[in-house]
Amino acid sequence: MSVCPRCRQGPLELVRVSRYELTVKKCDECDAVWAATSAPSRETFVQFQLLLDILGETELDTPYEVIEQL
Ligand SMILES: [Zn+2]
Repeated sequence: MSVCPRCRQGPLELVRVSRYELTVKKCDECDAVWAATSAPSRETFVQFQLLLDILGETELDTPYEVIEQL
């Protein structure tokens, strides 16, 4: 299991926001996200909520599914 480099607690998951066919790496604990192709680091995360804000969505309207634990 990979541990989030930001909060050093949460497990990293590969999740898919099906509405956008967007796949990202996400921390289950602090909701930091990274591009699916990048190596997670403390410097490069964005908040999942910010990503949704940019897309004009809320978490309720934008369900995502966990593809696998990293
Ligand atoms: Zn985290």
